[in-house]
Amino acid sequence: MSEIKYTITRSRRRLTSTTISIGPRGVVVSAPFWMPAWAIKNFVEEKRDWIEAQLKKHPPRTKEVKKYLDGDKILFLGSQHSLRIITTTTPGRTQISLEGQCLTVSISDHFGEAQRTEEVKKSLSRWFLEKGIEEITQKVNLYSEKLGVSYAKITLKNVSSIWGSCSARNNLNFNQHLIMAPHEVIDYVVIHEVCHLVHRDHSSRFWGLVRSLDLDYKKHRLWLRQNQYLLSF
Ligand SMILES: [Zn+2]
Repeated sequence: MSEIKYTITRSRRRLTSTTISIGPRGVVVSAPFWMPAWAIKNFVEEKRDWIEAQLKKHPPRTKEVKKYLDGDKILFLGSQHSLRIITTTTPGRTQISLEGQCLTVSISDHFGEAQRTEEVKKSLSRWFLEKGIEEITQKVNLYSEKLGVSYAKITLKNVSSIWGSCSARNNLNFNQHLIMAPHEVIDYVVIHEVCHLVHRDHSSRFWGLVRSLDLDYKKHRLWLRQNQYLLSF
C-alpha cells in the first residue's frame, strides 16, 4: 500500500476533533495541538478508503514534472529565477552560479538528454541545500542571540510536510525546500523553532514570543499553508 501524503494543521482551540479535508492542496488533517504524529497517522490510515475515493474524485493540483530546461523558471528566496543551461566541453563538476534573477548551470556536454535533466536537478538541489544552510544558519544565529538561547545543531532535511522542528536536545531541523520561500517566511519558520528553545509548547506565551520577533507571523504562516505546493524541485 502506498503512503498517503498529507499536511497537518494544528489548532490550539481544537481540543478533541480531528478532521480530514481534501482540496487543491491535497489531503489536509486538522488535528488538536496535543495529538502526536503517530496518532494522526493511524487516523489517516483508518480513513484510507474514503481518502482514496475522494482523491480520485478531486485530484489535487499536481506539480508539473520539471525538465530543467533552458529558460525554465525556478523559485528561489520567493522570486522566480530563469534557468540558463550552458553546455561546456570541459569535463568536471556541474557549476551553478547566480546573477540577478538568473541561475546559470554549466554542464558538461557528455550527458545525454535524460541524464542531463537528472544532473541539472541534482546539482540544483545540492546548490539549494548549500544556500539553505547558509541562510538558515545566519537567521538562527541572529534570533537565538536576540533571545539569548543556544542550540545544538542545525540540519536541513528533505521532508514533505514539516517546515521545522526543535528536538528535546535543542537540535533544529528545517525543510530543505524552505530556501525557495521569501525571506520573511523563512524568518518566521526560524523564529518559530528558535522560540521553542524557550517554550516547548504552543502556549500563548510561545506565540507572544514569536510575535515579538515577527509581528506578521500569521501572514507568513498562511503563506506557507497556501504555497506549500510550490516549494519543491
Ligand atoms: Zn511549533
